[in-house]
Amino acid sequence: MLRLVPVPAFDDNYLWLAHDGSRAVVVDPGDAAPVAAALQRLKLQLSAILLTHHHADHIGGVAALLERFAGVDVYAPDDERIEPATRRVGDGDTVDIEAPGLRLRVLALPGHTRSHIGYYGAGLLFCGDTLFSAGCGRLFEGTPAQMLASLDSLAALPAETAVCCAHEYTSANCAFAASVEPENSALRSRIAEVRRLRAAGTPTLPSTIACERATNPFLRVDEPDIVAWGERHGIPAPARVDRFAALRRGKDQFRAPAA
Ligand code: ZN
Ligand code: FE
Repeated sequence: MLRLVPVPAFDDNYLWLAHDGSRAVVVDPGDAAPVAAALQRLKLQLSAILLTHHHADHIGGVAALLERFAGVDVYAPDDERIEPATRRVGDGDTVDIEAPGLRLRVLALPGHTRSHIGYYGAGLLFCGDTLFSAGCGRLFEGTPAQMLASLDSLAALPAETAVCCAHEYTSANCAFAASVEPENSALRSRIAEVRRLRAAGTPTLPSTIACERATNPFLRVDEPDIVAWGERHGIPAPARVDRFAALRRGKDQFRAPAA
């Protein structure tokens, strides 16, 4: 049985551990200390490191982890900005980890960065800074069309897939989503749930693809209420990429009304 542990780091990152009770993989260890502490507390050996993209809050702890756990494989996209990688992987590749038994498919997810990838398998999705709960990553290096295609491919994964995002941004994302779709009742229940979870100090993640399809405006660009939102912002109904770009810009500029 595979278990999943979100290890909090920095202000709002989660470094995900998947383990079988003795061996673990870690995704995007931006900081080594909390990962090492979690491994020690749970009495786990590290067998592999998986990286989604080159940003420091996702790879900053790799070198220190390698010093401590020699011989660990580091899976990463083909990008020279990620130095300590032992296995370069790209779209369609399979990552096979013996222990914990974990087989993951690599998905190209350009948009946040040009070489961003995700890992999908065993009912889990590690999507880095591409898909967040009720939101998506900023477009630092990709075009809106690329990011939308990446998000479309994630929306097509099975409904029950556990979505392991790299940041706890859900609350702020929900506030923007509610400004776009005030009538969305699934979003309303999600907001109540998120409030409960955060008040208890509990992560809002993993989410599910079903939850994201029902609540995340960036996966809902073809829904009538979002098409209408676009039209109010001067975007004609057939222009779905422009609508997505307008949503992303809207989120960049959004300031939640004081609670
Ligand atoms: Zn990032
Ligand atoms: Fe990040």
